[in-house]
Amino acid sequence: MPELAEVEFYRKQWDPGLGQSIKKIATHPKARIYRNIAATAVQRGLKGHDFIRSHAHGKQMMFDFSDGAWLGLHLGMTGKLHTRPSGSEVEKHDHLVIELAETQLVFTDPRMFGKLTLDLTHDGAAPDWWQSLPPQPQDSGFTKASHLTFARRFPKTPIKTLLLDQRGYPGIGNWMADEICWKAKIAPQSPTGTLTDEQLNTIWKLTRQVSRDAIRIIGTDWSTPPKSWLFTHRWKDGGICPRRACDKAELMRADLRGRTTCWCPVCQAG
Ligand SMILES: [Zn+2]
Repeated sequence: MPELAEVEFYRKQWDPGLGQSIKKIATHPKARIYRNIAATAVQRGLKGHDFIRSHAHGKQMMFDFSDGAWLGLHLGMTGKLHTRPSGSEVEKHDHLVIELAETQLVFTDPRMFGKLTLDLTHDGAAPDWWQSLPPQPQDSGFTKASHLTFARRFPKTPIKTLLLDQRGYPGIGNWMADEICWKAKIAPQSPTGTLTDEQLNTIWKLTRQVSRDAIRIIGTDWSTPPKSWLFTHRWKDGGICPRRACDKAELMRADLRGRTTCWCPVCQAG
């Protein structure tokens, strides 16, 4: 599932269409992305507007059109954005195709867990729900104090599971949460209440750092994080901890509250 860096990458894929106005919109009315809003309402609400700007927040994206039309997209499991020249043929899994003067903006989603919203705001400002989203880990509003307050509310929750809570850590997903615990040398299963303030401060610093680095590396051009990260070793059976001091310890993988979790039994023993 796309996490904040992958979402940032996809957000930019529609940039070639910036400044152009919408000529027509093709939808796939039976697609599940229209479970909250009718496909015809999307067509009516967007037609004729200019594509001005785009934003990402955690795992969500917002596309800003002229005169206060705001198209929100959540990629779900398999959603992707790309562009094609205008007039190109619509393909099977294209659920939304926005035809601009020269460019097609395309949302494809084979498994259809993506979600779409449309807000028409009269004053042109972003919708209230978007403005009230909690600060992202890479933002200055994500403070040590707010993280500590949030974390202390859930003493029984494993630290890895806490980091997946979008109310506290918008955009953090499965691989990022594992990466943060690994960099912190803390077992992902540790109940948050057993961690010291110092350990929670380390988690805070690393949450910021991993988020910023992931956006720089993956969000820019889908590059792969360096071999010194858990990321490049976690996916395969028999993966080895990249820390030299762990002397080629084999990584563990197990289910933790419904999510496959990877950790090193040596450097994350406690
Ligand atoms: Zn290790």
